[in-house]
Amino acid sequence: MEFNFQLTPSIPEQEEVYDVAIIGGGPAGTTAAIYTARANLKTLVIDKGIANGALGITSKIANYPGIPGEISGEELVRRMRQQAESFGAVFVQDRIQATDLLSDPKVLFGNNGTYTARAVIIATGSMGRGNRVPGEDRLLGRGVSYCATCDAAFFRDAEVAVVGSSEEAVEEALFLTQFASMVHFLSPKREIHADAELVKELTEHPKVIVYWGVTLREVLGEQKVEAIRYRTPIGTEETLPVDCVFIYLQGGHPITDFLGGQLPLNEGGCLMVDSEYQTAIAGVYAVGDVLCNHVKQAVVAAAEGAVAAMAVEKHLRGRKKLVVDWSK
Ligand SMILES: Cc1cc2nc3c(=O)[nH]c(=O)nc-3n(C[C@H](O)[C@H](O)[C@H](O)COP(=O)(O)OP(=O)(O)OC[C@H]3O[C@@H](n4cnc5c(N)ncnc54)[C@H](O)[C@@H]3O)c2cc1C
Repeated sequence: MEFNFQLTPSIPEQEEVYDVAIIGGGPAGTTAAIYTARANLKTLVIDKGIANGALGITSKIANYPGIPGEISGEELVRRMRQQAESFGAVFVQDRIQATDLLSDPKVLFGNNGTYTARAVIIATGSMGRGNRVPGEDRLLGRGVSYCATCDAAFFRDAEVAVVGSSEEAVEEALFLTQFASMVHFLSPKREIHADAELVKELTEHPKVIVYWGVTLREVLGEQKVEAIRYRTPIGTEETLPVDCVFIYLQGGHPITDFLGGQLPLNEGGCLMVDSEYQTAIAGVYAVGDVLCNHVKQAVVAAAEGAVAAMAVEKHLRGRKKLVVDWSK
């Protein structure tokens, strides 16, 4: 079992302290927000982008109760958010990079700010990256990055590559155009799942070259990234010299990297929770697809968010828990 505590900077004094901060605004996090906000808890939801989660990228969903016919996943999440906002929940767009879950209040460090709360619900889903390409791990931090907002300034006037087909990849590529001399955007798919205006801005940007339907095969370089190798749609392989590569490929891996080992994982690398979705740290909960033994359906994620929200309310208001079962 992995259980490393990291030391993180102390919180700035002026930060507003929320009752609960929810990381991830998919169906799990947003439903939790509906319940906590309705229970008069000061609720903050931090989400890196509505179109980045499993539901956000789903083009049609027809089995969500109370929504007859077909609806896009993004529209369903949007409606859930509006409901949470109507009860007073605050949503911010940011990506959490690190946490201090043992401090009081708990602290979340994002790209754009620092957030503090008395309780935290982790609802980041499982669109994280599992399988890596050769060279990716070895050159991580030496030209391989997953965060342009964090690292773009290190690559002024450089030729950079961005790999992905999501809205996050598009936004990060556009951000990089402020620094890089050229941005090579490699989309594994033949279409990009993002706001049409953003896609237009990307494809028409004078500093961007888009490669459609290509697959990243390897990151090349000795001490730092020197090139990438990719497969073209007709099956040939090409080498592209670049100084760095920003990778936004989504897979089926729980997103827990930002926890930095603060929570214990089981042998399968999964977060452990009790029957009320509380983790090993009091006041920290995890719900939805980020849990390995969870049934991956929107209604299940939403239900878990509701249970955790009620547990948070009990925890913060000092009421006793009824059930604690560590078998989950
Ligand atoms: C293609 C596809 C089709 C599907 N079809 C159906 C269906 O028809 N019916 C059904 O019920 N279910 C369906 N599902 C499953 C369903 O979408 C998921 O079970 C559900 O979305 C899980 O909800 P979640 O809130 O746990 O995670 P997600 O929906 O993945 O939301 C997680 C959120 O966390 C955010 N996030 C992640 N990391 C961070 C971070 N570090 N900082 C800030 N924010 C972060 C993401 O941006 C995202 O918005 C489908 C899934 C896929 C992939």
